[in-house]
Amino acid sequence: MTILTPNSPTAELQALDAAHHMHPFTHGAGLGEKGARIITRAEGCWLNDSDGNRILDAMAGLWCVNIGYGREELAEAAARQMRELPFYNTFFQTSHVPAINLAARLAELAPGDLNHVFFANSGSEANDTNLRMVRTYWQEKGQPQRQHVISRWNGYHGSSVGSGSLGGMKGMHAQGGMPIPGIHHIDQPYWYLEGGNMSEDDFGLARAQLLEEKILELGADNVAAFIAEPIQGAGGVIVPPATYWPEIQRIVDKYGILLIADEVICGFGRTGEWFGSQTMNIRPDIMTVAKGLSSGYQPIGASIVSDGVAKVIDGVEFNHGYTYSGHPVACAVALENLRLLDEEGIVTRARDETGPYLKAQFETLTDHPLVGEAKIVGHMGSIALTPDKASRARFAGEAGTAGFITRERCFANNLIMRHVGDRMIISPPLVISKEEIDTLIERARRSLDEAHAQLQ
Ligand code: PLP
Repeated sequence: MTILTPNSPTAELQALDAAHHMHPFTHGAGLGEKGARIITRAEGCWLNDSDGNRILDAMAGLWCVNIGYGREELAEAAARQMRELPFYNTFFQTSHVPAINLAARLAELAPGDLNHVFFANSGSEANDTNLRMVRTYWQEKGQPQRQHVISRWNGYHGSSVGSGSLGGMKGMHAQGGMPIPGIHHIDQPYWYLEGGNMSEDDFGLARAQLLEEKILELGADNVAAFIAEPIQGAGGVIVPPATYWPEIQRIVDKYGILLIADEVICGFGRTGEWFGSQTMNIRPDIMTVAKGLSSGYQPIGASIVSDGVAKVIDGVEFNHGYTYSGHPVACAVALENLRLLDEEGIVTRARDETGPYLKAQFETLTDHPLVGEAKIVGHMGSIALTPDKASRARFAGEAGTAGFITRERCFANNLIMRHVGDRMIISPPLVISKEEIDTLIERARRSLDEAHAQLQ
């Protein structure tokens, strides 16, 4: 068999890819017709593809390469760890230095009394852990009937059966028997398309109060936890109205329900602070992390757990874990990533310098005829495409067509932006410079102009 290289011809790479490689969230047949875009190398915020294009990655991969591509220190950390101890597990009362150090560092970074870490390999796995952990917690607390978990429509918590059920993606639920029993969804705080004539603040309160209604419907003593992203990412970067999270916090406190903040996207500087929970001023009992934890250089996720929850879980043998929970190479890389994010001031610079600049520039897009609103917190933002700004109207025909057209124009202009329906989203590496932000906005604007012309 020929082994292809990054320098092999694109057509050959695409043909072999289409023949054997099944892609996530991809219409497989399309690969045979158009072929995948083959990314070969990356540096900073820039990708190279097999056709020699240089592409600005305004999505940081899949919202994860917070530190930017090409950091030698992370490659070195991986190589060092592979030589010293490439693998050992953390089951049955064994441990190793990278897992010990990383857990301690996460406890230091995480707010409040979130001092305990259960490792996984992804956000999906960490949310599966959370689902089992909160149910086990209540069982051990003598309230075994508290098994119901509430989450939100259009939230995203992963793609495994458990985490996909926690998520509220109807397209995912339509395939493969999800959601599993005991998981209930309430509507999202998405004012732009769902707020009607309400003010943003009133709408935020109304959507938060759906949680109380659901709790009362299920019986307050039957509910284990509420899970949500501080800011919905994959749902379209939906920034909740200011009234939403304080009301959610009031409700979970009132009924003594555990709050799980899914920080897989929001964590590690994406929203300006280390965690979205700090930006949104909430007090979770568990935080899910992944992505930015290693800046995507290694697959790793974790549940960061409060003293109170950990005490109960530590009181039993928790029959749960993954072969690669706390994988030494992934932990060593994550630890080095956190060191650089901190010591190089990447998180604080993103919060204080490039974040405000990005916000100011991104918000100028609202003067474009296609753009109904721009929402951005830190380094995650989205614009709503609309045929009529005044009424916040949807496009006639299939939702997402305008978004798809705009995304394809971005692709052609060597800019990676993603679309969720008719929202265009960005989540660039935190190391993006002001000049690169200017390039991002200029290419986005050009792509919007082209999409606008095409949609006429
Ligand atoms: N939670 C959130 C908020 C996410 O955005 C994602 C992935 O995008 C996940 C969980 C799942 O993480 P993974 O893809 O690493 O399993």
